[in-house]
Amino acid sequence: MIDSHCHLADAAFDADREAVVTRAHEAGIETMITIADSISEAEKCVQIAEKYDHIFCSVGVHPHNAKDWQKGDAAKLTAMTKRSKKVRAIGEIGLDYHYNHSAQDVQRGVFLEQLTLSRELGLPAVVHCRESIDDIRTIVQEVEPLQMVLHCCTEKWEDIEWLLELGHLLSFTGIATYPNAEVIRNVIKHCPLSKMMIETDAPYLAPIPHRGKRNEPAFIVEVARLIAKIKNTSLEEVEAQTTKNAVVFFGLSNGALDRN
Ligand SMILES: [Zn+2]
Ligand SMILES: [Zn+2]
Repeated sequence: MIDSHCHLADAAFDADREAVVTRAHEAGIETMITIADSISEAEKCVQIAEKYDHIFCSVGVHPHNAKDWQKGDAAKLTAMTKRSKKVRAIGEIGLDYHYNHSAQDVQRGVFLEQLTLSRELGLPAVVHCRESIDDIRTIVQEVEPLQMVLHCCTEKWEDIEWLLELGHLLSFTGIATYPNAEVIRNVIKHCPLSKMMIETDAPYLAPIPHRGKRNEPAFIVEVARLIAKIKNTSLEEVEAQTTKNAVVFFGLSNGALDRN
């Protein structure tokens, strides 16, 4: 299994990061992608990924932090991608109109710039969307990114079908296990296994039965288990297919998986 989206650089893991990584390995997770949400966290993600064979990372600025975006930041992100082969995506980037921690027009500008950067660098994009799918669509149509994943997908199926038609992917977190997440389970029902990845988004969104605790990559099996149930297939099939999808998406075929 691959945890395609976790925040190992988050301060929530500062005290016991080594143990978290070990537990993930013991739980059968071959690879983790640690995702950045700011310039400084991106630096930390690169350091963590450089330290472990089986950890890769993204670099990018989250819509919550769009207000801190500065002129030279695209160049900083570019430099990180050149410096480390462990950087496999630009993210997480996107629009969050639920919290509005940054003004919406600022978010749109920073998303547009980073999505364009991902295209120029030939890297996939990890996209965050909350109550903003229409503007995401407008910007995606303008930039035509090479490949993107809509992570922690919580949108209605009819609002995101277009993404799959454009060849992009969806990824699902532990939220899908929550009782009121019928909308997400419906998307899982419609989305082909060949178009999805799984993620924890740790330390956030722990799946049932761990809900309320700090989330960690080792818990990802609960997401795979739920998908297997909805798709009426085996856990092994979900693990194999989502792993394959993540290997292709993040370009891992010559990476850590070969060594496992
Ligand atoms: Zn997110
Ligand atoms: Zn995230």
